Amino acid sequence: MQHLYDMRSSELAAWLESLGEPRYRGKQVFQWLYQRRVRSVAEMTNLPKALRQRLADQAVLATAREVTRQVSQVDGTVKFLLGWPDGVTVETVLMRHDYGNSVCVSTQVGCKMGCAFCASTLGGMIRQMTAGEMVEQLLASQRLLDATDERVSSVVLMGSGEPMDNYDQAMKFIDIIRDPDGLNIGQRHITLSTVGLVPGIVRLADEGRPITLAVSLHAPTDELRSALMPVNKAYPIAKLLEACQYYYRKTGKRISFEYALIGGKNDALEHARQLAELLRGLPCHVNLIPVNYVPERNFQRTPKAQVQAFLQELRRLGVNATVRREMGHDIAAACGQLRAEHAARPAP
Ligand code: SF4
Repeated sequence: MQHLYDMRSSELAAWLESLGEPRYRGKQVFQWLYQRRVRSVAEMTNLPKALRQRLADQAVLATAREVTRQVSQVDGTVKFLLGWPDGVTVETVLMRHDYGNSVCVSTQVGCKMGCAFCASTLGGMIRQMTAGEMVEQLLASQRLLDATDERVSSVVLMGSGEPMDNYDQAMKFIDIIRDPDGLNIGQRHITLSTVGLVPGIVRLADEGRPITLAVSLHAPTDELRSALMPVNKAYPIAKLLEACQYYYRKTGKRISFEYALIGGKNDALEHARQLAELLRGLPCHVNLIPVNYVPERNFQRTPKAQVQAFLQELRRLGVNATVRREMGHDIAAACGQLRAEHAARPAP
């Protein structure tokens, strides 16, 4: 069976052509999928009946089911847990901001990167998400927004998984959601978060995609970073920043650095000074993220006053920095937590 959400518009056209249909049918089907957001082939009423039958026999649309949905009473954040027929689940989160609706998408089931502060990696990487499965995550939010005539305005590939460890599917997903015949989400409203896989950053730079790159830095020294993020042993800070400089030179896009503040680990003022020194001369923005408590790791949150002191120190040293607003705290909308909780719950 062919998964319709798994194809770019051009691929859909080529596939229909291979079935003996005119190429323009590809655009029609694509528009039904993403502009009208139909749930079945039967609803594609401008297609000949024979083609609809053929599609119904040979293709599938949605493959995911909604396992749970939680809505934050604090800020309206919605967290979906979606499940697929092979038994895997991932979470996707819809965040309501003043400036629009943003969706966080998972690119892998679990993750093999082993970051010490992250719940998603506790069970390792289970499997890759296909582009179509990422599209389905986005559509879960868009369908909810359809009820109030709103749209998803930005997308972050920042859920469970490392997008650059699933590069081709992540890029296909981006191509599908930015297509003007479909959801038409501008590339500058798409952010890809990476743990810092240098070859991926270089490839992205060479491909010239003007998406925002968010690099998880989390520590200002190799010693500390390697303890928090095993990937640092393969791509230490100097190599990573070299790749970031290259990305900036090629795309002209400022890099966003993520820095999770972990109580007593990387949140001293000395760390802020080291960080400022590292980033000197690289046009960038630092996002400070007070880390969520991870019971399995016994990580503590940085006290609010210390978060502010860290922020002020960075700013004093000329670094553009903000503290990320926490969304959906009451529903634990941080990366991977719902999946971990769900998996840990015994079957009824
Ligand atoms: S923070 Fe991201 S890259 Fe690191 S283990 Fe978690 S999901 Fe993987």
